[in-house]
Amino acid sequence: MKSVKPKLKTSHSKGNREIVADVSQCAGCLTCMLRCSFHKEGEFNLSRSKIKVRKLVGAENEFEITFSPDCDACGVCAVYCPYDALTRRKVKEKV
Ligand code: SF4
Ligand code: SF4
Repeated sequence: MKSVKPKLKTSHSKGNREIVADVSQCAGCLTCMLRCSFHKEGEFNLSRSKIKVRKLVGAENEFEITFSPDCDACGVCAVYCPYDALTRRKVKEKV
C-alpha cells in the first residue's frame, strides 16, 4: 500500500495574521478545536471548530491539521495548544 506523506507544516492567513501548525509537535489532544469552537461559536463542539485535527492511519505523520476558510487567524487555538504545535505570526498583507 502506498503511504501518504502529508505536509509537516500547514498554515492559514487572514489579513496580516497567519496561523502555522507544526504537525510534528501535535499530540492530538484536540484542545485547539474545543477552544476555537468555544471562542467563535460559544460552545465546546468539535464539529464547529475552524481548525481540524485528524488522526491518520498508515501515514508518515500521526496527525493532519487543516483550517477552514473562515478561520480568521485570531490565534486563540495557538494560545491554548499545550504542545506548541500552533503559532500565530504577523505577515505582510498581500496586495
Ligand atoms: S486561529 Fe482562531 S478561528 Fe482560526 S482555528 Fe484558531 S481559534 Fe479558530
Ligand atoms: S492543541 Fe496542539 S497538540 Fe492538541 S490537537 Fe491541537 S495542535 Fe495538536
